[in-house]
Amino acid sequence: MTNKNLLVANWKMNLGPSKSAQLARDLRELANGLKKTEIWVAPSPVCLPAVLEQVKGSGVRSGAQNVHWAATGAFTGEVSVPMLQELSADFAITGHSERRHQFGETNELVVKRSLGALSQGLGVIHCIGEKLDERERGETNAVLARQLEPLFAEARADSFGNLVIAYEPVWAIGTGKVASVEEIREAHAFISGILGKYGAAACPVLYGGSVTPENYAGIIALDLVNGALVGGASLTLEGMRKLAEISEG
Ligand code: PEP
Repeated sequence: MTNKNLLVANWKMNLGPSKSAQLARDLRELANGLKKTEIWVAPSPVCLPAVLEQVKGSGVRSGAQNVHWAATGAFTGEVSVPMLQELSADFAITGHSERRHQFGETNELVVKRSLGALSQGLGVIHCIGEKLDERERGETNAVLARQLEPLFAEARADSFGNLVIAYEPVWAIGTGKVASVEEIREAHAFISGILGKYGAAACPVLYGGSVTPENYAGIIALDLVNGALVGGASLTLEGMRKLAEISEG
């Protein structure tokens, strides 16, 4: 995958094709000056062709916010791996908490998406994270294990090079409530233990959840944090520039 810090912009259902293309062009320029950081962008699927056109041949990678496991078929509203590959998209996010908790995607479904994409050679950012009530009941590690174990139990080891894990506590996404450095350290240590068990220690593990230029320095300083999945703060060039500067150290 990469040894660099990843800065992954999740634009969610924001920015139309022309605004996405403009920001992608700006990020391409920003990425030119970076040595330790890679920028990845996940726009809306209708904006993906315009974004990919802008970042072609640069270090910036772009991908989808979700993906289906089947190559083709009667799955209204879904996007397949071959469709993304035809566009030269690099990856898809799976299991984002908004998919799990606003659209009812089960853990089983999310794992199917990730396994399907990995088996077809697409990069995957597999998102995991506990809800507030689960954290308060002391179930964080059990939730993380439940979201990771079925994936690693079935994924082929030769696909691990295409896999990124994003730890995103649900209660911290889009809420302005960032997890404390100690909470992030503990969760990443637990995740690292699971990755080690399956020979996947080289998979990058990102933190996501209200990352901003104000809190990112303490987060990226953690040994086991390999970058961030960023929503709100990724929607402007200024936000991304400041996060990239912090990532560069
Ligand atoms: C996300 O979209 O994965 C995310 C973490 O959003 P935000 O940075 O806005 O919390």
